[in-house]
Amino acid sequence: MDSKSLYAKAQTLMPGGVNSPLRACKYVNSQPVFIENAKGAHLFDVDGREYVDYVFSWGPQILGHQDPAVSAAAHAAIDLGSSYGAPCLGEIALAEEISKLIPSMEMMRMVSSGTEATMSALRLARGYTGRNKFVKFIGNYHGHADAFLAAAGSAAATVPGTPGVPEEVTRHTLLAQYNDLDAVKAHFEAGGDDIACVIVEPVAGNMGLVLPKDGFLQGLRDLCTRYGALLIFDEVITGFRLSPGGAQVRFGITPDLTTLGKIIGGGFPVGCYGGKREIMEHMAPVGGVFQAGTLSGNPVAMAAGLATLKRLGECDYEALEARTFKLTDELAAIMREKGRAVSVNRIASAFTMYFNDGPVTNMIESGNSDADAYAAYWQQMLAQGVYLAPAGFECAFTCFAHTDEDFEKTLEAARKVRF
Ligand code: PMP
Repeated sequence: MDSKSLYAKAQTLMPGGVNSPLRACKYVNSQPVFIENAKGAHLFDVDGREYVDYVFSWGPQILGHQDPAVSAAAHAAIDLGSSYGAPCLGEIALAEEISKLIPSMEMMRMVSSGTEATMSALRLARGYTGRNKFVKFIGNYHGHADAFLAAAGSAAATVPGTPGVPEEVTRHTLLAQYNDLDAVKAHFEAGGDDIACVIVEPVAGNMGLVLPKDGFLQGLRDLCTRYGALLIFDEVITGFRLSPGGAQVRFGITPDLTTLGKIIGGGFPVGCYGGKREIMEHMAPVGGVFQAGTLSGNPVAMAAGLATLKRLGECDYEALEARTFKLTDELAAIMREKGRAVSVNRIASAFTMYFNDGPVTNMIESGNSDADAYAAYWQQMLAQGVYLAPAGFECAFTCFAHTDEDFEKTLEAARKVRF
């Protein structure tokens, strides 16, 4: 069956034909292609077409698809049994490696998704401090737990009012614009004694890519310390992407708790939260804050994650960043030659090209990007074999398997785009 017929069938079985909303390609006025397999930096669909990938499963596949070492580790783990529900060696090996690379994570808990990681970190922050409120940034996305679905980014930004989330639950969610330290300060001045934590994407990746302004993250660190609140870095995207130690090591700012996902599972379902030992020991069975999971610490995911982190130790992050900057410089120049106003935010192997003049420093400015222009660009790039995120408010990823030919093909396609 081709993608078109599969999509028709899928819509009879799943809402919108998909298991996660953005995959339906609604925000680029299009329909999804169905992927049959993927290798390196390339996707192959059921219609026999090949694409240069810039999504990489929304981040996990930083080494490219089917990295031989990761595949071998996953296969070897499966041969030992796919899930035990009892402690296994892989959990220790991955936790040790993470702790080595991100020293603030003295202790951690493995879970099965980024959503579980952030939800659990918030519960821990509340349980630890005995406070209810927390600060979150407009346009940041921390998964789909109720408390975070207030002015969330990514696909959640497209669901007005988010039915199903009682107002009583988001009443404790205090909002601020990203990069607006004064707004956070005002929340603390108004009621700092009841703020359990500030949760932030240290580089935002769910309203397009948005970088923290100088002093923003340090300012959050200082406010949290002053008021006895915890600082949570949601590094589900930035962990092991911005540097081998994520955003916190790259920027030199230490949060109390960190959430991870995506890359640390090597393409298998995983999440993780961790931080200071003294805080983490408030989790059951040592402390009273509860969280559990049937598949937590799954041996296949642990093995794939560990193999990924080991492989990343051999990768040249700076070289990939330089290549990504060159690619985005050229992409932007091509669009400007066509008379389109564009601005690019980028760091390491992540970028967003906004269809506006920029600068883009928060959700308001990101929202000014021309969605119709992005849709036209996306459709024509797809038709020429370039697979970008099917929404202008997501970021694009490069990976260690991208070749110069892949980038050249991308630029060639961009040159042919008509608005
Ligand atoms: N936090 C951030 C920063 C994310 O980008 C995401 C997912 N894109 C999540 C949390 C939730 O992760 P998951 O989709 O694995 O539940």
